Amino acid sequence: MDAVNSQRSNHEELVIVGSGPAGWTAALYSARASLRPLVFEGAFSPENQDAGLLPMGQLTTTGDIENYPGFPKGDARTYIQTALDPERVAVLPYDTFDDSRANAAISGAVLVELMRRQAVNFGARVVSEDVVRVDFRTRPFKLWDSQGELTEAHAVIIASGASARWLELDSEERYKGRGVSACAVCDAAAPRFFQQPLAVVGGGDSAVEEALYLTRFASRVYLIHRRDVLRASPILTQRALNSEKIVPVWNRVVREVLGDEQRGVTAVTLCDPKEPGVQERLDVAGVFVAIGRRPNVAFLDGALELDAQGYIKRIGWSAATSVPGVFVAGDVADPVYRQAVIAAGSGAMAALDAQRFLNELER
Ligand code: NAP
Repeated sequence: MDAVNSQRSNHEELVIVGSGPAGWTAALYSARASLRPLVFEGAFSPENQDAGLLPMGQLTTTGDIENYPGFPKGDARTYIQTALDPERVAVLPYDTFDDSRANAAISGAVLVELMRRQAVNFGARVVSEDVVRVDFRTRPFKLWDSQGELTEAHAVIIASGASARWLELDSEERYKGRGVSACAVCDAAAPRFFQQPLAVVGGGDSAVEEALYLTRFASRVYLIHRRDVLRASPILTQRALNSEKIVPVWNRVVREVLGDEQRGVTAVTLCDPKEPGVQERLDVAGVFVAIGRRPNVAFLDGALELDAQGYIKRIGWSAATSVPGVFVAGDVADPVYRQAVIAAGSGAMAALDAQRFLNELER
């Protein structure tokens, strides 16, 4: 158990659910306001790994972060080595301390670890469990974790983020972990992909980032998009189109993932979405699905109002939700921007709103 867990009580002032930029910024701000928040960062379980729901959020599945203000390319190693606990440094999934990367931009995993450290430095306490059920009908609010333990809280901030959407094909499910992935940074270094042709599905920033990352390992990367114009930002689009290894495959969707028990993925069948009857085969050793995100709200089971797309509804320009005292931050309430810097900013908003709510309760 994390040393900071030992100070957990079952009657809390403020509980924060989530451990991406929104959760840690909310924790930092509320800790500095002496609220001693308790953060459920999620469980490092195999089930969460399979579902793409490991703690520390989506940022850990991104390689270099080039657009988070304050982290230009440069040597941040000394700071990181002194700032993080040695045991956290040991589990970081990237080659952070590789000399050849000394001048690289900060990685997503390191950035979010530093956010965690900063919140803990000011008194945030961390529980490495998922929240699996809530009851927000009366205050104090009730939250049950993956060990079945009940925590009560006077205010709650939900910052549970979003996770990968899948194509929803049976064959995709069959080959998950054996050539089908939603995270190049997590999986691309596997021997099965080395110097092999690979496919990325999608046309947004995530798909292009995945494709660019995969060029380090693959012999060729097919970027399969259902239209003939990428949705990705101009800078990423240009990088993809200039890459010698990336081959755009326009106006195609994946109908099936092909493979066998021994090798895993060996090919995909594609079709023009306007002509589903005409199918073609593309030989690839891996399929990286990057077709957007869905908000992580299952554990709420209707406790908060959602919008038509399933994101938590916020009240006006605030972090308030349909339940007074429950606030929201980050991608779980953001179908539009979905940027780390915006998630962090909304975490600060949620902490300030929660602080005001708790102050008024005391009067
Ligand atoms: P996105 O922008 O929603 O793009 C999803 C892509 O998948 C679209 O091109 C879409 O096609 C395609 N798609 C959706 N459903 C599909 C299906 N069933 N079959 C085939 N293709 C399908 O999602 P994202 O790329 O994950 O990006 C999410 C947000 O995060 C965006 O706001 C993005 O800017 C941001 N982001 C930013 C960065 C960065 O700043 N470096 C990196 C990653 C993500 P259509 O285009 O035809 O709809």
